[in-house]
Amino acid sequence: MFFTLLSSLCIRVIRSFLLFSRCSVVLGLALLFSLGCNSFSLHLLSRDKHEKATAGSHPAAPAPPSRYSFRIPPYVFLSDFEIDHDKPLFGELAKLRDQVYGELRLTPGRAAILVYLFENKDRYDEYMHAAYPNLPARRAFFIQQQRALGGGDDLMVYTSWGERIQQDLRHELTHALLHSVIRDMPLWLDEGLAEYFELPPSEHGINASHVETLRRDFGVTFQPDLDRLEKMKDVNEMKSPEYREAWLWTHWMMQSRPETKTALLTYLQELRKGHPGPLAPRLTAICPNLKDEFQKHLYQIELPINARAVPPSSSSVPR
Ligand SMILES: [Zn+2]
Repeated sequence: MFFTLLSSLCIRVIRSFLLFSRCSVVLGLALLFSLGCNSFSLHLLSRDKHEKATAGSHPAAPAPPSRYSFRIPPYVFLSDFEIDHDKPLFGELAKLRDQVYGELRLTPGRAAILVYLFENKDRYDEYMHAAYPNLPARRAFFIQQQRALGGGDDLMVYTSWGERIQQDLRHELTHALLHSVIRDMPLWLDEGLAEYFELPPSEHGINASHVETLRRDFGVTFQPDLDRLEKMKDVNEMKSPEYREAWLWTHWMMQSRPETKTALLTYLQELRKGHPGPLAPRLTAICPNLKDEFQKHLYQIELPINARAVPPSSSSVPR
């Protein structure tokens, strides 16, 4: 999940987002005077930046991890416990940057991404509750915070060390890498891409759990509707079925045929510059029988032999 904070008293405003982990949800955030926006309001001006919270206005807020740090560009990992930098996890996360920017043909961002790793869930929950009391409980967050004096945004990921660390970090860092170069990502596409890249490259973007659930539900409780997804601005509208559908649209665009991938890559380039409008009409122009082709793609995905060994619901929880 992703969220943008405005740490300025000159209120203009502004959409912010917050990405939560374990609920890959993007919170559309409207600050004061943003009338008519149906996004989740977090009263950011009273919350302000977490640095300020720790400094005085929120004396109960503990400090984020800072005792140990190491850098694997563009990430800076910070923790209060020692972490073996040579773990395969970190090498994989370094490659994630090249994978995301390379496959999406995006010029890499230069902003540092701060990754706060808490030793356990209790410490993580304690910090997040104190520093961001209005956020829902999630396993991890990506937060994009606008600096008071300009000069870009701070990109931060918060999570605790645990058995899901690899997938959670890949998911949240995908959000961070995307927002490093595209400030205003559509909610559905942000989550679709994070779901796509959260699995190791060996999985080729295939989330077996998603595939099994989508096949089971297709025509029963699930009807693909990209127009509907594209209209979603509020993270509360995006639940597990919407995450699965966003993933499948992303997988279809990335892997079904060159034209759909080109449409996606072109759209991302246009998002860097502004608001290109919806993507669905472009895809319909390429594929007049869009829903039929989409369904065909779902049933043509080849699952690994041991797919059913994958925990069925763990990856479908919004983050
Ligand atoms: Zn997410």
